[in-house]
Amino acid sequence: MRILVTGGAGFIGSNFVHYVFSQRPDWSVTILDKLTYAGNQENLKGLDASNLKFVKGDICDEQTVDSLVKDCDAVVHFAAESHVDNSLHSPWPFVQTNVVGTYQILEAVRKHGKRLHHISTDEVYGDLELNDPKFTEDTPYNPSSPYSSTKAGSDMLVRAWIRSFGVKATISNCSNNYGPYQHVEKFIPRMITEVLEDRKPKLYGQGQNIRDWIHAEDHSSGVLTILEKGKIGETYMIGANGEKTNKQVLELTLELMGKDATAYEQVADRPGHDLRYGIDASKLRSELGWQPKYTDFKTGLKATIDWYKQNEAWWKSQKAAAEAK
Ligand code: NAD
Repeated sequence: MRILVTGGAGFIGSNFVHYVFSQRPDWSVTILDKLTYAGNQENLKGLDASNLKFVKGDICDEQTVDSLVKDCDAVVHFAAESHVDNSLHSPWPFVQTNVVGTYQILEAVRKHGKRLHHISTDEVYGDLELNDPKFTEDTPYNPSSPYSSTKAGSDMLVRAWIRSFGVKATISNCSNNYGPYQHVEKFIPRMITEVLEDRKPKLYGQGQNIRDWIHAEDHSSGVLTILEKGKIGETYMIGANGEKTNKQVLELTLELMGKDATAYEQVADRPGHDLRYGIDASKLRSELGWQPKYTDFKTGLKATIDWYKQNEAWWKSQKAAAEAK
């Protein structure tokens, strides 16, 4: 099996490539990544170079995409602009990469008759009230931010290409990921590295926003399961029943790092901040037999804290730039 992984030098894409090498050592992987500020080839260190090809390039570039898709059996499409705060300041790269880039991938898989798995997010569904049932595959789309609206747009393109052109694609919508190799601009690594640099981490508003946390390795195993066993044309939710308020996550992080649970600062809330996300992954569990490994959030968070402690060289260089931004 030869797979093309777009965005494979990013957080979840690189976790997925590590997972594939550990589970399917005979597969060969080509990564197409533009190496934006969020991509880092260091994330791929230690992988068997004889089965790995890295191409620096843009998913919006028709020729590059076409030639790489032609030479693979399946595409797993992670590449995206992914940070909500960045999308509020500068939406254009989100429209370009998330919408136009996905269009180029779709046209190439259509032309060459290749299998596609498209990675999306639960943010396309908007947010939930506290007592609402969780998101399912049938929840109507209701995105809030330039990030989630461009991801919603990319999902719609995939659905249309399946229906109109018979493209052999599946889609997954996953909840918030945590784990190694996550950029320090994101909530959990930002808190951990603030504490490691002896500063108080910051909390948006009252911290009552709820996110449904899943370890990136569990996201990866969900994607591999869908790629191998998923039904063409279907959408699958990926989630591990990890709903927590941001305040709970912050307090647990402080506790695990030996700090007082109140040692943080509250700052003005993010505009349009979604209240709650929650994923019902019953379809993936019952139809494809998938199960997450990290069912205890505290264990996964502790392992993630340890990774950032042990890999200071990996995050130090990006930290100052991320905080300045
Ligand atoms: P990330 O920002 O860490 O990585 C994105 C990667 O894509 C980077 O390596 C970047 O260089 C690359 N990239 C960006 N624009 C590109 C372009 N035009 N051409 C080629 N490569 C490009 O993102 P992530 O957190 O790893 O997210 C990966 C995917 O998973 C995204 O599609 C995102 O929407 C989805 N997702 C993320 C989460 C989460 O919690 N982070 C949750 C659910 C779904």
